[in-house]
Amino acid sequence: MNTDAEITAIYEDDLNTLLDNLNLRQQLEGGSLRCFFCKTTITFDNLICLFPDSGAIKICCDDLNCMSQLATRRNEGLGRGKYHR
Ligand SMILES: [Zn+2]
Repeated sequence: MNTDAEITAIYEDDLNTLLDNLNLRQQLEGGSLRCFFCKTTITFDNLICLFPDSGAIKICCDDLNCMSQLATRRNEGLGRGKYHR
């Protein structure tokens, strides 16, 4: 149940479960996760998406520039979706 084989865009509904599965929740709560693009500290408020990169899970914050870069990297699917609450 805890495979991380295929992760594309994750939104709020699945976020907590995913963070647990990836053992990232403690890091998030501890303030040690950074946005892949702008390196800002990731919190539950600004975490917008997780994505695989070179076998590791990267995180994107809700900054428009970061989301734009993410969409450019993964334009087969991440350019669409609900970005705002
Ligand atoms: Zn960012």
